[in-house]
Amino acid sequence: MVAASTRTEAAREVAASLRATRTIELRLDWLGERKEIRATLRWLAAKKAAFRKSGVTIIATCRRRKAGGKFAGTIREQIAILREAADAGCRWLDLEIESAERFSRAELAALGAKARLLISYHNFRKMPQRLERAKGRLERARGDAIKIAAHAATYSDARRLLNFARTSRRSVMVPMGNVAAAARILALRGGSAAAYAPVNAATAPGQIGLSAMKEIYRAGKIDRHTSVYGVIGDPVAHSLSPQMQNAGFAARRMNAVYVPFLVRRGSRGLRDFLGAVEGLGVKGFSVTIPHKEAILEYLDDCDPLAAEIGAVNTVVVRGGGKLYGYNTDYVGVLRALERRVQLAGSCVLILGAGGAARATAFALAHAGANVRICARRPERARALARAVGGEAIERSRLRAEYFDAIVNATPVGMHPNTKASPLEANELNCRLVFDSIYRPRRTKLLQTAERRGIETVSGVEMFIAQGAAQWEIWTGERAPESAMRQALEKALRRPENDSGSEDDRRS
Ligand code: NAP
Repeated sequence: MVAASTRTEAAREVAASLRATRTIELRLDWLGERKEIRATLRWLAAKKAAFRKSGVTIIATCRRRKAGGKFAGTIREQIAILREAADAGCRWLDLEIESAERFSRAELAALGAKARLLISYHNFRKMPQRLERAKGRLERARGDAIKIAAHAATYSDARRLLNFARTSRRSVMVPMGNVAAAARILALRGGSAAAYAPVNAATAPGQIGLSAMKEIYRAGKIDRHTSVYGVIGDPVAHSLSPQMQNAGFAARRMNAVYVPFLVRRGSRGLRDFLGAVEGLGVKGFSVTIPHKEAILEYLDDCDPLAAEIGAVNTVVVRGGGKLYGYNTDYVGVLRALERRVQLAGSCVLILGAGGAARATAFALAHAGANVRICARRPERARALARAVGGEAIERSRLRAEYFDAIVNATPVGMHPNTKASPLEANELNCRLVFDSIYRPRRTKLLQTAERRGIETVSGVEMFIAQGAAQWEIWTGERAPESAMRQALEKALRRPENDSGSEDDRRS
């Protein structure tokens, strides 16, 4: 999707889009001034033969303000521009229902003789209760295809829209909004003929960029048979699990996709998502902050180790929507530490008492380590220490204590708050520091430890190990770990804002 404000920018964005797709929506209304629109159409006309020859399809849109676009002109002016767009080689014209309903049959037929018509309905505020009514309006305009783009406030909304795609051939369904980032990708599985992705500027919340759509989510390969996996969290846009898990599916040539599901903190968010799991075709999902402990009460059954830990980071959806929980953070932390520290008999300090801290405490205690817990809520530290036969320790005592290893299991220092550290330099009295945070790879805590000559281990090691274990639970096959590692390393080298989805940064 190209939404530029000048002809030069539009031409540049079209060229960039062509590297990833042959179908481009050109938002003429974003060009603002009439002279930029005309210049862009002249540029397109000059390219007409070349585009036709290479199978490029341009969809021209000149949406009026009343329908959520930027075009300030009259309907007459809109129709004139769309006619010119068709003459310039645009094979499809997106015409909003508000304008289509004001055109005469003859005018619509004349426009339809020049290019195919995609009649569109937009609702930026909510998902219409009666989607059939919107569809009826669109079909009465007698275009070649219909599009419904509506705000999905919940997964239940998104599921309704996606299921609706199945009721109509030649339809495009676009769920909009922050929870809808995943649903935008899954629309293709639901039968939507297209998914929109901006090459540059986002034109609606929850949009996923074109390169992420193609490279991470392999959107062109998604069909009705694609198995769906994902990660639930709040926030979730920072997660690099999609890059890593999708690389695993690609390496094994599996028809599966892994998407980020923004699930708001609290039972309402979880209930909404879990209610839509079957309808969205989800076969399994990872669980991250803040749901690792809360998810337990919604499970039908749980692996005994996960139940003992009291935190679940992996869920398998079985027949009839039954949910089964596992914990792979346990394996992840052992894989990250066991080659570097002789765990049996060691003394390890864990910061935090949440999901990751619980998995770490159980893993280390089972391996024979003496576990110490320091958390901002002392009662939580004491409860976890009791559960693993360890001791709670107050922060004020840390300067005077020595540990074989210190493990950070809090999110302090995680992207985007990379300047924060859970401990000061003089509290780092140990041989090794392990930060479970993987983004950034070198957290402030690890940098401080390095400066003091302390060995450090990044959360990347744990992240790969726990992710590979999840992948194996879901697929029953051996995980292609080196492909998953490569994808993660590549993602970590990219600028921090290029994780593919913008959902929670905009909310
Ligand atoms: P969680 O269940 O929400 O627990 C977070 C813990 O950190 C809680 O004890 C919380 O205290 C504490 N905490 C939060 N903010 C704090 C602050 N500003 N100061 C002091 N303590 C604070 O989260 P989680 O799932 O355990 O995740 C914790 C971290 O581990 C995250 O950074 C996550 O990315 C990382 N992790 C990494 C991997 C990996 O594979 N590398 C796997 C799992 C987790 P309260 O209870 O008082 O809120």
